Amino acid sequence: MTTTSNPDIVYTKVDEAPELASASLLPIIQKFASAAGVTVGTKDISLAGRILATFPENLTDAQRVSDDLAELGALVKTKSANVVKLPNISASVPQLVAAIEELQSQGYDIPDYPEAPATDAEHSTRKRYDAIKGSAVNPVLREGNSDRRAAAAVKKFAQANPHRMGAWSADSKTRVAAMSGGDFFSNEASATLASEATAKIVLETPSGQTLLKESVSYPAGTVVDATFMSARALDSFLADEIAKTKAEGVLFSLHMKATMMKVSDPIIFGHAVKAWLAPVFDKFGAKMADLGVNPNSGLGDLLERVADDADIMAAIEAITKERPPMYMVNSDKGITNLHVPSDVIIDASMPALIRAGGKGWGPSGEEADTVCVIPDNSYAPVYDEAIKFFKANGALNPATAGTVQNIGLMAQKAEEYGSHPTTFEMPEAGTVKMVLQDGTVLHEHAVEKGDIWRSASARKAPIEDWVNLAIERQKTTGFRSIFWLDANRAHDAQLISYVMPILEAKGVADKFEIMAPAQATRVSLETITKGENTIAITGNVLRDYLTDLFPILELATSAKMLSIVKLMQGGGLFETGAGGSAPKHVQQLVEENHLRWDSLGEFCALGESFMFLAEAKGNARAKVLGETVEVATQDVLDNGRSPSRKVGEPDNRDSHYWFARYWAEALAAQTTDPSLAEEFAPVAKALAENEAKITSELAAPQGKPADIGGYYHGDMAKLTAVMRPSATLNGIID
Ligand code: NAP
Ligand code: MG
Repeated sequence: MTTTSNPDIVYTKVDEAPELASASLLPIIQKFASAAGVTVGTKDISLAGRILATFPENLTDAQRVSDDLAELGALVKTKSANVVKLPNISASVPQLVAAIEELQSQGYDIPDYPEAPATDAEHSTRKRYDAIKGSAVNPVLREGNSDRRAAAAVKKFAQANPHRMGAWSADSKTRVAAMSGGDFFSNEASATLASEATAKIVLETPSGQTLLKESVSYPAGTVVDATFMSARALDSFLADEIAKTKAEGVLFSLHMKATMMKVSDPIIFGHAVKAWLAPVFDKFGAKMADLGVNPNSGLGDLLERVADDADIMAAIEAITKERPPMYMVNSDKGITNLHVPSDVIIDASMPALIRAGGKGWGPSGEEADTVCVIPDNSYAPVYDEAIKFFKANGALNPATAGTVQNIGLMAQKAEEYGSHPTTFEMPEAGTVKMVLQDGTVLHEHAVEKGDIWRSASARKAPIEDWVNLAIERQKTTGFRSIFWLDANRAHDAQLISYVMPILEAKGVADKFEIMAPAQATRVSLETITKGENTIAITGNVLRDYLTDLFPILELATSAKMLSIVKLMQGGGLFETGAGGSAPKHVQQLVEENHLRWDSLGEFCALGESFMFLAEAKGNARAKVLGETVEVATQDVLDNGRSPSRKVGEPDNRDSHYWFARYWAEALAAQTTDPSLAEEFAPVAKALAENEAKITSELAAPQGKPADIGGYYHGDMAKLTAVMRPSATLNGIID
């Protein structure tokens, strides 16, 4: 369901836990806002919605949906954009396939995902599906750079109510393993284009030339990188680390971002699957290929495909006995680190392991020290340094720790490498060249078959906007401000050439420091350990990684972050939290009708969105809405009205009741807009008087399974029934 008129605020329809939560929260928001004349519409950017929008010709008129992502993509380039963006699924292939099957089972005649496209039609279908895969939404919407921090109330609350941290011991065997060369980091080349340019990417081989990419265009001033990971170096590194881990007697784990880096990282993941089962692939490789095995899809898919072949199964069992124990996603269900490429995502997995004192879960559910394999050295040093710091100093104390805020470069797909269409697995050995329209060779690399080559870029305007945003935040906060840039890394050196002149021209160079990621990690941890604060000014990948790492250490979760995108054309995009869509929460709701999703990120984003509306459009009533949402958010925290994790205890729905009540009370209490106060006084009264009745109606369905009519494409009526079980509350709201 999508509203098409021009609402003041667009609230996105997404997937999984946040979408379940929206079924309960959004009606409250829409009702309260409309009382103040503010309209809140929706746009569907869910995985299922994006699939349906891609194949209109396969659908009946009634089934067809609009391409909301494209519409939002256009909106964010305008001044009037005011979007509250919830986290959505960045689909791995197994998730995409599951969503397609679900839609087909509901009567949508969409094509299968062609795993091995042969005909032209299959290639075209594959291409359309691949555009939906991975991180396909955020790059379209992020027409601005990011400003992420814990709201003051949230940080204060975390200090007063510190979460449990696992203890670190100096003799922990947990460590990060990264390649000693041949990786993206060491092979990187980078240049800033003096003028506008168009490049083609070719692979020259003894037998001729393959065109990898016909044309990519860059405005003047774009920083263009190229690099590759050597498959040979990767394989020998992985084999070594598996052996070393076995000798060290700890868990083996691999941490990638197969969702965002949708081309490169599944391939690297596939190398790890092959390294793990090396003797099996040596002996049965051809037979497994015939059975449709693609190591990039993970051990889970592989095991299903070879299940009926006793020889292969015996060989897998034999080698598994010799391997070190593996870090588990779910030991009860036997799901390992290598089962599904999207299960272990580095930005969530590494902080969780660090918060637990360097422990991962082993095969029988026991906690153990873990070798964390992060092949590429671009960002592995962040986790390596953090682990070393905590081994030496013990765990961070959330009661006294200061905070690390982030200003991240991401506008106009800056540094979106791995997820964009300039990453290639080399079909054969040769030389990859990036050739400009005038014949100049911008970058070239000698590669071998199987090497992963990729190019990323960052445009001038976003880089300048990012530096200016950093200057603004430094000025506002006075915090120690560090650009996490490595002068010895090719790309970072180009960025430094942008950063320094801007800082100098503005006379603020003395307010900023520039440090490579390892040193910046150490200094930031030292700073917050002392109770002081710092701003990490980073590129796109560290924006993502750090806004999970530090919040998870400081606040226990990144879900409570304020995540503001000041759009370059003047609009506002308010992302909710810095985390994902918490698939485990959906399972819990379906199994026992308890939703532990915390909507605090939504509350914070909503407050910012109203305030932005007030400022951008001079809408005084929106300001009242914004201020009262802030009061309500604070009250939810102070009174402990956040959802509990356990069935039978207050959950997400209960927390929304309290949010509505505190919001109504704050609206009734404010004096800026007497007519709004008058309107909300009876609402606040009814919500308070019916507290016992409402909370018991909300709690009643818990403990039994819930039917929401689908995972990726649920049934709105069923979902509403599950998420709005209190007739009394609904009566007051509606
Ligand atoms: P995740 O959904 O953030 O999950 C990690 C864990 O964080 C959850 O299992 C949950 O812990 C906790 N968590 C996150 N948000 C929470 C909230 N609001 N309330 C309570 N707990 C919360 O990360 P993921 O597993 O890496 O990613 C899942 C999916 O989200 C993927 O499809 C990914 O691509 C997508 N994603 C989207 C965005 C975005 O659109 N901006 C960002 C990141 C990830 P417990 O299970 O312990 O409760
Ligand atoms: Mg993240």
